[in-house]
Amino acid sequence: MSALDIVGDDLKTELPTGETVRFAHLDYAASAPCVEAAAQAVAELLPRYGSVHRGTGVRSQTSTVAYEVARDVVAEFVGARADDQVIFTRNTTDALNLLARALPAGTTTILFDGEHHANLLPWPNPLRLPAPESAYEAIKSLKDALSVTKGTRVLTVTGASNVTGEIWPVRELADIAHAHGVRVIVDAAQLAPHRPANLDHLGADFLAFSGHKLYAPFGAGVLVGRADWLDAAEPYLYGGGASATVGDRPGELTWATGPARHEGGTPNLLGAAAIAAVCAALLVADRDALHRHEQDLLARLRGSLPDGVREMSLFGPDHPRVGIVSLALPGHDPARVAHRLGREFGIGVRAGQFCAHPLVRRLTKSDATATCESGQNALLRASFGLGSTTEDVDRFTAALGEILRS
Ligand code: PMP
Repeated sequence: MSALDIVGDDLKTELPTGETVRFAHLDYAASAPCVEAAAQAVAELLPRYGSVHRGTGVRSQTSTVAYEVARDVVAEFVGARADDQVIFTRNTTDALNLLARALPAGTTTILFDGEHHANLLPWPNPLRLPAPESAYEAIKSLKDALSVTKGTRVLTVTGASNVTGEIWPVRELADIAHAHGVRVIVDAAQLAPHRPANLDHLGADFLAFSGHKLYAPFGAGVLVGRADWLDAAEPYLYGGGASATVGDRPGELTWATGPARHEGGTPNLLGAAAIAAVCAALLVADRDALHRHEQDLLARLRGSLPDGVREMSLFGPDHPRVGIVSLALPGHDPARVAHRLGREFGIGVRAGQFCAHPLVRRLTKSDATATCESGQNALLRASFGLGSTTEDVDRFTAALGEILRS
């Protein structure tokens, strides 16, 4: 077993014909399966875990050390700078909501309508720009937005789209934002599982991702970024851990600084340890080989799509992307197709708008043939990663063709 092998890779499912097949999991973008490294980290802690930061016995000490080591490993994974904090959260949604509340009062958040709702909805004073058709248009649109806004502003942008899989031109946008003194937040939920998510390379001041999409499904996520705003903000959750001293009267208290300020309550040790174990495994993995494998699968899938199926894209077919493909199925309801793929073929995908309604509306409207029978501009999404095989991809494209013809 290697650290990045999938736990339960041989999961079987029974078809209505009575035949048993290996389940083809093509829904990694929703939640990736667990890898050995994460399962082992949890298994090793289970017999000895205790209260993090709160006790003196061996269980508590072990847990405190494991939790802080996990923080250090995540810091290394994203190339955190000396003035960055690593805060463990529940997931990306939680991380971005935390950060939204920590922005200096009156901050304008500039973002594009290509975002997942987790990066669209939390911001108190958003300036929403139309989803662009090219990196050039994104840059122009950002420049225009910067020229008509004043005061403290931030740019928040996804690293890779959960709908099209396309890599956003984060670095180019970040350079422009920084030239205007504007900080940059990167939603790395879909980027981190596929590509190195390095703060410096991306030009990010803050970065968020989820454990369950990074092969560590134990209920934790991460927010990394500049300590000054985080230390100046109200604690995300009031309570133990976040408070440094508490007096006898209401309001007589001081809050902790550092990650503890925003990690009120007992932290999710197993979740943090699982994320760190995957980060550690990816740090030493041959990322180029993983990338090549994924790109081969992507090319294979895109090259064998049934006739009439349309792949969704903002930036064009040649734009770099991760292993996510969303398809419009003219004349068919993607929800029904997804259901049949699961029941009749043992293939797991997702149908709908993937918590990115403005983007999906935009993508399906720009393609007049895309509107499906259900009339909801829904799409069918296949997504893959570490455990995916050519067999998974071939079964998917063959089954999709069969369903669309029937
Ligand atoms: N951002 C992106 C790009 C996503 O794909 C998702 C999950 N689909 C999220 C944020 C939210 O992640 P979570 O549900 O783990 O909070």
